[in-house]
Amino acid sequence: MIHREQLEKDDHQYLWHPFTQMQTWLQEQPLIIERAEGSYLIDADGRRYIDGVSSLWVNVHGHQRKELNQAITEQLQKVAHSTFLGLTHPAGIELAKKLAHLAPTGLTRVFFSDTGAAAVEIALKMAFQYWQQGSVQRPRKTKFLYLQNGYHGDTVGAMSVGGIESFHEKYRPLLFPTVKAPSAYCYRCYLGKTYPSCAVACLNDVERALTEHADELAAIIMEPVIQGAAGMIAFPPQYTRLIWELAKRNDVLFIADEVATGFGRTGKMFACEQEGITPDLMTVGKGLTGGYLPLAATFATEDIFRAFLGRVGDGHTLYHGHTYTGNPLACAVALANLQIFENEQTLQQLETKIHFLKEGLARFWSLKHVGDVRQAGFIVGIELVQDKTTKEPYQAGELVGHRVIMDARKRGVIIRPLSDVIVLMPPLSISLDELKALLDAVYDSIKAITEL
Ligand SMILES: *Cc1c(COP(=O)(O)O)cnc(C)c1O
Repeated sequence: MIHREQLEKDDHQYLWHPFTQMQTWLQEQPLIIERAEGSYLIDADGRRYIDGVSSLWVNVHGHQRKELNQAITEQLQKVAHSTFLGLTHPAGIELAKKLAHLAPTGLTRVFFSDTGAAAVEIALKMAFQYWQQGSVQRPRKTKFLYLQNGYHGDTVGAMSVGGIESFHEKYRPLLFPTVKAPSAYCYRCYLGKTYPSCAVACLNDVERALTEHADELAAIIMEPVIQGAAGMIAFPPQYTRLIWELAKRNDVLFIADEVATGFGRTGKMFACEQEGITPDLMTVGKGLTGGYLPLAATFATEDIFRAFLGRVGDGHTLYHGHTYTGNPLACAVALANLQIFENEQTLQQLETKIHFLKEGLARFWSLKHVGDVRQAGFIVGIELVQDKTTKEPYQAGELVGHRVIMDARKRGVIIRPLSDVIVLMPPLSISLDELKALLDAVYDSIKAITEL
């Protein structure tokens, strides 16, 4: 085995890490994860850490699951990759069938890709092209409405509908024109109101944007129930449903981006179920393979699918595909992932854990610099603030979130913050004892760093 010091040196010499200020990275000793099992990541020195954010929101049933490992090995005995362009294969067919049955009623078609951002690009292209050639042709409907603080990935199309200033503003000149609406962020309400006495007044602004631009809007895209990357901003109940109703009433397609919320994260298989809605298009990624291989999918209704039928050469085809679309190894492990949901009744088991998590979070409110604690199922955001009374944030340069997660490492926990929001997103398979250990470590780290 290559020596740890050599690996550290080579990382610093050869790599460029995602979403990373490399100048800072080069000054720190990188943590090298060599193995994992269950809820734990294990570093090159054999130290064990609870995987508190599911290896960036993807792991579902734990690391080194026998059934998942086996599904890949078995598929490997048959074929590692065969193209989906002009050919098909059993793993992809079976997975599409299973997904179509699991998805909100009405989403009947599955288009595979390999990352959440790609799944979003595909949904945008489907929505755009639908109005150009569907049974109800409305060629002026070419724009997209997105929400402030929304996140849909880092490719150019996905960024165009991205609402996180710090990620997206830099690239704005590159992006296609869109319509933006403010969104609910109850802790920092831009209207200065308080839920529920506000009666969700911010929806009026979404409605205004939708109705004013209905003639030119192909679709609205949003993360249902909770905005992830912006800092785990949970919406008030029915908020997603009310926007879905507004979109329907105004003839605007509704794209639900479930890349983060899909596969049990909010307590249901999909967050749309929490609100009893069926979107026109839905994207999934992250948890689809249980955190094993990159695979994503875009779901469409039969109505949208039919708008793309026609003769070869009449331009109705969806001109989109990736070299590794529907990779058999990824499809096989995704199938095994869904099989575990069934065999172990993962979602039923999760109810107790969600409740335990909620109770465990209660004491965080009394910490001096915890301004807000947000939870949607197994997604948690703890917002740290300089001043609890005024909600004054910390200076960005203080790196408080970063310092908390570095402290948590010493306590055997790996998490990753979103600025000064501490995120907890453990594997759904985590045990109550491990969950308690995670909560205790994070509590102690927040206290140690913010109450020096
Ligand atoms: C992570 C994420 C994406 C992007 O997925 P990638 O696989 O990183 O491209 C898109 N939408 C949402 C809601 C996400 O959380």
